[in-house]
Amino acid sequence: MTRAFNFSAGPAALPEEVLRQAQAEMLEWNGVGASIVEISHRSADFMAVAAQAEADLRTLVGIPDDYAVLFLGGGATTQQALVPLNFASPGQRVDYVVTGHWGKTAVRQAKPYVDVNIAADGGAGGFRDIPPVSQWRLSRDAAYVHVTANETIHGIEFRDMPDVGNVPLVADFSSSIASEPIDVSRYGVIYAGAQKNLGPVGIAVVIIRRDLLERAGQPRADIFDYRSHAARDSMLNTPPTWNWYMAGLMFKWMLAQGGVEAFAKLSQAKSALVYDAIDGSGGFYRNDVAAAVRSRMNIPFFLASEELDARFVSEAKKAGLLALKGHKAVGGIRASLYNAVPLEAAQALVAFMADFQKRNG
Ligand code: PMP
Repeated sequence: MTRAFNFSAGPAALPEEVLRQAQAEMLEWNGVGASIVEISHRSADFMAVAAQAEADLRTLVGIPDDYAVLFLGGGATTQQALVPLNFASPGQRVDYVVTGHWGKTAVRQAKPYVDVNIAADGGAGGFRDIPPVSQWRLSRDAAYVHVTANETIHGIEFRDMPDVGNVPLVADFSSSIASEPIDVSRYGVIYAGAQKNLGPVGIAVVIIRRDLLERAGQPRADIFDYRSHAARDSMLNTPPTWNWYMAGLMFKWMLAQGGVEAFAKLSQAKSALVYDAIDGSGGFYRNDVAAAVRSRMNIPFFLASEELDARFVSEAKKAGLLALKGHKAVGGIRASLYNAVPLEAAQALVAFMADFQKRNG
């Protein structure tokens, strides 16, 4: 069995170098006589790994010192509930810009705690575009504005993040973090589940402007309290040590590849190949997202029938192209092109697309 090209939306492909290093260190790590998942999270050995991972993430993403960085279990959905609990008072007005499935999930997680104003919603247009900021109905007194930087299922990405004034911008970067340079100082909070660009599923990264940690928020246990997690360096309880270590390996790998500038170029090249193949297919393949907001990370597309979609997915799998089935919410095909997916994978995909069209067009 050889490793195929993997277009999974998450848990997603990891670089072979990272997997090999983890494999080599699985039985015995760093001279401690045990693997990294068999030692205390409070041991000096693990604490060094944790601190190095944070330092490397700060370098990779360009996180200023006045931001705290947390490594937490619970994935991105948990952060969607913790954000209103920590940054808004009970029933306070908050603004959500909904540009796809994950924006809706964020709204659902927030609703029990706050007064959610849907400032903009691309749903009426079938999530094919981002409503222009001039049409957003932002509240003057919102605790924050929440956006989804990249919608993993609908394949919609903010290419220019709008200015929302003094209200802190909270952004779900789960499926696009570290894929291009971003100006962290424009955000109050950035969160991301690891399982796309940062490592295996099981940990989330939360980047918080420190002044926001002073907000009273809502009554909550300390395990749901970002301030408590920050005060204890994300070791309020036992953190997912394996995932933290693996994310650390990913950060080192991404830095060695040239950092976010290199991945910006690579993701531009990969996504252009696939979009050009779709747009140049004379309608055989279809992606309905407005060109200006097409995602570089997740490319959903459709053939003329569900039967043809299914044939495409199954033949692609036989050709060594994995996980191309679209999410059940939208159907069709989806190619995810995260940082660990090489240019060769996108080239193999477009070659397969051309061949499939020749045989079925
Ligand atoms: N936000 C986005 C943009 C996502 O893609 C996902 C998962 N695919 C989530 C949130 C939910 O993440 P998790 O499953 O880690 O809770």
